[in-house]
Amino acid sequence: MSILVYAENWDGRFRKSAFEAISYAKKASILFQTNVKTISIGAVDNTELERLGEFGTDKIISYPNINKSNGKAIALILEQEAKDCKLIILSNTFNAKTIAPRVSAKLMAGLITNVISHIDNTENICIKRQAFSSKAIEKTKLNSNIGVLTIAPNAFEINPNPGDCEIEINNKEIESDVVVLGKDVNKGKISLSEAEIVVSAGRGLKAAENWGMIEELADVLGAATACSKPVSDIGWRPHSEHVGQTGKAIAPNLYIAIGISGAIQHLAGVNSSKTMVAINTDPEAPFFKAADYGIIGDAFEVVPELITEIKNFKNN
Ligand SMILES: Cc1cc2nc3c(=O)[nH]c(=O)nc-3n(C[C@H](O)[C@H](O)[C@H](O)COP(=O)(O)OP(=O)(O)OC[C@H]3O[C@@H](n4cnc5c(N)ncnc54)[C@H](O)[C@@H]3O)c2cc1C
Repeated sequence: MSILVYAENWDGRFRKSAFEAISYAKKASILFQTNVKTISIGAVDNTELERLGEFGTDKIISYPNINKSNGKAIALILEQEAKDCKLIILSNTFNAKTIAPRVSAKLMAGLITNVISHIDNTENICIKRQAFSSKAIEKTKLNSNIGVLTIAPNAFEINPNPGDCEIEINNKEIESDVVVLGKDVNKGKISLSEAEIVVSAGRGLKAAENWGMIEELADVLGAATACSKPVSDIGWRPHSEHVGQTGKAIAPNLYIAIGISGAIQHLAGVNSSKTMVAINTDPEAPFFKAADYGIIGDAFEVVPELITEIKNFKNN
């Protein structure tokens, strides 16, 4: 019996979410006294696979010829690799949403998404998960022999755990029934889903050309940039930056909302942030009720001042 992990890569690079998934699986494997087996899909070089091997997995099986967008094929591979597994762990990414339900159906396995707690019992597996767009925490019990868990990003520690890790390459090919024709990639240097700090702006910024100061603030803070839905609908920012109920759900340590009213659909995607700061001219803006800190003021005055102060602080 093993614990199986799907470690997702982006253009051949593994990110924090893959390391979180393996660290989570490693902890469970100690409890179940078993080993961790990790599946990688798509072209990844050996150095990167070795880097992945430093987080506690005993074996990595890489399928370089399977398309990373082919959820059906990935589910098939996971089903085949999960024959002797108790748990299948994925990070709760967009892609996992198309893979995990398929794996769960194939294996007749219980599926628990958005997991935010570790397993502490091998008999009675009870797990906490985020529910209702992160507005509630649900306690769930796994009632099947095999479980598929998708773990919430930024909810678990990464534990480097270097040891012997066998790397196997499987050149199997499965034709894709979905072909990706183009990508609207987030231009920010930092991945929005995994960022520790996110600087986000809304319609209060008034025009696309005013985003220079938002990018500069993100730059000095080492943050990713995000936006409200209307901003990406108008075309001021790419859709990849849209957060909320219909966009990305994120959980950074710090979320700075600038000129965003704080509509419930926006908060649904960001209220798992550990600390939220709102900057808004309107003292009645709903964001102030959800935020930990609020600045009532004009973004065009507050943001440049913040940038100057943060630069001064860094220089001293
Ligand atoms: C089914 C559905 C799904 C939706 N999904 C999403 C979603 O996923 N994400 C999302 O964001 N929205 C979503 N929405 C839209 C949501 O309801 C709001 O309309 C949207 O979030 C508002 O965006 P905003 O705050 O940028 O703009 P506005 O509501 O126009 O707010 C702009 C804010 O900027 C402030 N402001 C103005 N000038 C300044 C200034 N100079 N300095 C500082 N502050 C200033 C204003 O006081 C105001 O609070 C959804 C709506 C529906 C119906």
